[in-house]
Amino acid sequence: MQVADGVHQFKVPMRHNPLGYTYSYYLKEAETLIDAGIPGWDAYSALEKQLQEQDTHVKDLERIIITHMHNDHVGLIEYIRERGAVETIAHRIAEEHQQAQIKWYKDMYRNISEELQLLGGGSFQQFLSRFEHAFREDPKPLRLDKLVEDDAALDLPGVKLRVIWTPGHAAEHICLHDAERRILFSGDHVLPKITSHVSEHTWEKRDPLGDYLNSLIKVRDLPVDLTLPGHEHSFTSLPDRVSQLFKHHEARLVEVKEALKGGKSTVFDVASAIHWDSRPWLIMDFWTKRMAATETYAHLVYLRNKSEIREEVIDGVLRYSLA
Ligand SMILES: [Zn+2]
Repeated sequence: MQVADGVHQFKVPMRHNPLGYTYSYYLKEAETLIDAGIPGWDAYSALEKQLQEQDTHVKDLERIIITHMHNDHVGLIEYIRERGAVETIAHRIAEEHQQAQIKWYKDMYRNISEELQLLGGGSFQQFLSRFEHAFREDPKPLRLDKLVEDDAALDLPGVKLRVIWTPGHAAEHICLHDAERRILFSGDHVLPKITSHVSEHTWEKRDPLGDYLNSLIKVRDLPVDLTLPGHEHSFTSLPDRVSQLFKHHEARLVEVKEALKGGKSTVFDVASAIHWDSRPWLIMDFWTKRMAATETYAHLVYLRNKSEIREEVIDGVLRYSLA
């Protein structure tokens, strides 16, 4: 579907995912995609068909700009590379993460198991151990040809894009601003309905929620009439959506502090006391609980850094209380 002059939104299907699609944006004159889609032949043939509708082919693509390195955005790139020589462009941190992962993937299971303990999910250790083999797979890094920094200008045929580094949902996340068309390609940084998953891991020592909120401010007041996200649907009022997301996280932070009123609590304790839009905690499977816990942990880290709550490690488990 053409969404602006020379800009097409391709639907790349994701089976078994409630989001349904990843959007890949095709910039016609530059023969460029912004993001690709999940790996698989279904996704590949959908992309190929939509390229053909624009009288072009996978082999004619010049480059793919990557908003972030999650599989639903980059997984299809290797399939495209088998048919054509595309240049890949991503934020510098994407490559740093890939290199770090190569070094520590052997310890991945141990890290995940230790994290589960720290977060207060020790009762799931036996369940987790059934998947130990799954964490032993060699990482398959994606060749990144060009690394960019915040504020980089990508001057392509028919389109000038400015890179806006927006860490939060992923540390390497970028949005792309087309000032002339007044468009923002927002990746998964700002989605119109769901809130982006922002999570922290105990081995990372970052503040992804703090980063995320700063990154929202970075895009809020851009001169933009149309925001083109990685999922769901395009939308017009970026500042309104940003303020909804701020409200969501403010409410969540209040909920987290409420949950701590009962005394020292683990991350799993707090996560179980929070209202989750997707489904109640009690009926979440283990993997969803783990995602909810790492998201809760990001909120706790944010509050800890603001000295609003206290963090201690007692018997190998993180415990939080109101400051
Ligand atoms: Zn995504």
